[in-house]
Amino acid sequence: MTAPPLPHRFGGGLYTERPPVTRLALGPDVLAAPLADLGRVTPSVARRLSAFGLHTVGDLIDHFPRRYEDFRDRKAIRDLKVGEEATVRGMVVRVRAGRTARRRVDIVTAVLSDDTGALEAVWFNQGYLMKVLTEGMRLSLRGTFRPQGRRLQFLVKGHEILEEGDGEGVHTEGVVPVYPAGEQVSAKLLRALLHELAPVMRRLPDPLPARLRVRERLPSRADAVTAVHLPRTLAEARPARDRLVLEELLLMQIGLLLHKQEQQCRVRAPAFSAPSGLARAFLDTLPFELTEHQSAALEELEADLQREAPMRRLLQGDVGSGKTVVALYCLVRAAEAGLQGVLLAPTETLAAQHAETAVGLAGALVPTELVTASLTARERRSALARIAAGETRLAVGTHALLQEDVRFRALGLLVVDEQHRFGVEQRDALVRRAERDGVAPHVLHMTATPIPRTLALTVFGDLDVTTIAGLPAGRRPVVTRVVEEDRREAGYDFVRKQIARGRQAYVVCPAIDESESISAATAVAEAERLQRGPFRAARVAVAHGQLKPTDRDAVMRAFKNGEVDVLVATSLVEVGIDVPNATVMIIEGAERFGLAQLHQLRGRVGRGRERSYCLLFATAETGASQARLEALLETTDGFELADRDLEIRGEGQVMGARQAGRSDLKLARLARDRTALLRARELAADLLAADPGLRDAVHAPLADAVRDAFGEELAWLLKA
Ligand code: ADP
Ligand code: MG
Repeated sequence: MTAPPLPHRFGGGLYTERPPVTRLALGPDVLAAPLADLGRVTPSVARRLSAFGLHTVGDLIDHFPRRYEDFRDRKAIRDLKVGEEATVRGMVVRVRAGRTARRRVDIVTAVLSDDTGALEAVWFNQGYLMKVLTEGMRLSLRGTFRPQGRRLQFLVKGHEILEEGDGEGVHTEGVVPVYPAGEQVSAKLLRALLHELAPVMRRLPDPLPARLRVRERLPSRADAVTAVHLPRTLAEARPARDRLVLEELLLMQIGLLLHKQEQQCRVRAPAFSAPSGLARAFLDTLPFELTEHQSAALEELEADLQREAPMRRLLQGDVGSGKTVVALYCLVRAAEAGLQGVLLAPTETLAAQHAETAVGLAGALVPTELVTASLTARERRSALARIAAGETRLAVGTHALLQEDVRFRALGLLVVDEQHRFGVEQRDALVRRAERDGVAPHVLHMTATPIPRTLALTVFGDLDVTTIAGLPAGRRPVVTRVVEEDRREAGYDFVRKQIARGRQAYVVCPAIDESESISAATAVAEAERLQRGPFRAARVAVAHGQLKPTDRDAVMRAFKNGEVDVLVATSLVEVGIDVPNATVMIIEGAERFGLAQLHQLRGRVGRGRERSYCLLFATAETGASQARLEALLETTDGFELADRDLEIRGEGQVMGARQAGRSDLKLARLARDRTALLRARELAADLLAADPGLRDAVHAPLADAVRDAFGEELAWLLKA
């Protein structure tokens, strides 16, 4: 067996003796070239890079530094100060191996000298260096001088071997990028490889049109990429990053806008004629005045409904802001146009509540049907028959309405409440089934999870967004307090007083480790404890995810009808349940909930005219949970909370499933790059307004880049 090639420049056998030149031809396909084509990448290194997600030269170039270290403070050995980190250069005079006495850790020491003196450098646990370091070698070291017994030692944090004629070191001198790394792929390896790619970077083509670049004063892509990976100064890295962030966001916005265009061009929607009697009757008989924001939202939607371009809109508004009535108006409009409407809700309880509201507010005007899984086969058959015949003008229901056998005579509008609880495909399938002769229904999504504008533009960038700000008049913000363990009894006392005044209460128990059965058991035990103890005199009931939907529904209904005083529930207390008489909520283990969830839960109270209260029973607090509870105490504005949440958690987790692939940004960070995002949106809209399919020859590189980023999905749209 022949000995493997000696590790050369970097320890650990990462490199062979092959010369450090890039063997890549700098042709147009260079970015697609496998990393194994790089001069010093052995098959084993290539495998490790691959496992880390880096396969091609392009992948590597798109792997951006997380931050930089400024190692420009190079010192002569004589000028080193104890305890101060610095970089030194010198020649290796002697190398020795040893072991610490107690822990038997490998120690390598080397004497390094420069024109001003010599020092003893020390490495721990890097025995392989004995094979790498040789006398006469020129080294650059990053580290700290520290006393060791009566001597001074230089504790090495990073080192590199300087070759003849080398300029500035890559790892220990100048401004050094720090890369996200893995167990098998060190930041040092990435840095070294990217260094080799400098010639490739300098020739990168620019997807952005020259005119835009000049107007926005952006550096070229080649300069920006080079400066991000190989900055000479920190000041140079910043604008370079900004340019790449803008590019990334611009490509995404173009992709999303194209997707929207595609949806709106492929099919037509039935344009509703102007509102007449039915719509007017609906508005006239409402038991309340619409708020200013509701009216404004209604106008925006009305304009959409009268267009042939299918409405694809998100109606967002804080919990209790009154979205349902606005959606109902649109559904009445569908009926008025001789078409049908669907109102989809994620749970039986919500669907039932919506049906009740619909019948209450519009039942006399629009024949309505509730379709859920709890219908008997017979009931279902006849309901579906009425829907298929067009007798039913408004179908309210759950997933049960998404099934294959549900047919409409003429579906004009689909409203999806709490849209994130439905799979995109399921929803789209319904729209496709309802499509006839190139005519598809309008679609309105509703969400009570306020989405910061930045996320709305990314995750929902292909939807228009309407926001209902504020709450109906007369609502007062929910009074929120953290109740620590020693005040628990006082908390119960407060709730008892509310009950004595005829009000109702929620007690929310945390979901435990995602296990619904344990959570359910906890809720049941808690309900028993409360019924026997603090709420002896009250009627306590429990709802949790292990109950059959019909049973849970019965409990919710009893609560709604005032037959239950205290509803103990797991965090599943339905988003959107509307019991105005419930004025107080206890949230047990509040520190264990996310901010968005706490806000949603709190939104169950404060729905009537009475002042409402939210008591956060919290125990030991970590920094993050503390920050959440504080945010909750400070504001009841869901949008502000959503922004805070974004800051505390980062965008990745805020939206859950839908963002997959969408908010998958390499460089941009939404919380930080808001301004760039808004600018990118504008630029994308301008570009597409001037050149709808990016067909102009000057936009060819841009179209290519969008196609690369979005795959085949949009390919046909961009084809000239
Ligand atoms: P959400 O936006 O959370 O779905 P809802 O549509 O359920 O809110 O409305 C919450 C409550 O406010 C309901 O009881 C509804 O009847 C009532 N509501 C809606 N609009 C108004 C209004 N303009 N004035 C007074 N009450 C209203
Ligand atoms: Mg609602």
